[in-house]
Amino acid sequence: MITSADEDLLRRAVAIAAHAVTLGDAPYGSLLAGPDGAVLAEAHNTVRRDNDISAHPELKLARWAARELDGDTAAGTTMYTSCQPCGMCAGGIARSGLGRVVYALSTDQLVGLNPESGAWPVVPQDGPALLAEARVPVEAYYRQSGGPAPAGDTDGTPS
Ligand SMILES: [Zn+2]
Repeated sequence: MITSADEDLLRRAVAIAAHAVTLGDAPYGSLLAGPDGAVLAEAHNTVRRDNDISAHPELKLARWAARELDGDTAAGTTMYTSCQPCGMCAGGIARSGLGRVVYALSTDQLVGLNPESGAWPVVPQDGPALLAEARVPVEAYYRQSGGPAPAGDTDGTPS
C-alpha cells in the first residue's frame, strides 16, 4: 500500500528525474529513505554522461547501501524511484538487502511513453557445461573460507 508519506517521497524522486533532464541526463531519479522518511541518498541516471550502462539510479543506490549500511539498517530502508526498476537494478536491489521499493511509472507505462525502453533483446544463454572443471575454484573458495561468502560478496573481492 502506498501512503501519502510515500507519495511525498515519490514526488521527490520524480523531481530528481526532472532535474536530471536539465543536466542533460536521462529522466530517471531515485532516493533511499530510512524508516522515519529521512532521505539517506539520492541519485539520477548518468548512463550517457558516464558512458556506463550500469549507471541507473536504483543500482547506484543499491550499491551505496550495500557498502555503507549494515544489514539491519538496509532492511529498514525504502527506495523511491521514478520508474519501476529494470532487471539489472532489481537484481542489485535484492542483493543489497533493501526493505522495499516504491515506484511511480511501471515498466509498461514507461514503454507506453517511450517504446525503446522496452526494446531489450533476450540474449541466448547456453549452459550448464564443464561441471567437473568449473566446480573446482568454487569448491576451493568455499572450503577455504569455511562457508558461504557474506551477502553481496559474490565475486570474492574484499568489501
Ligand atoms: Zn535499472
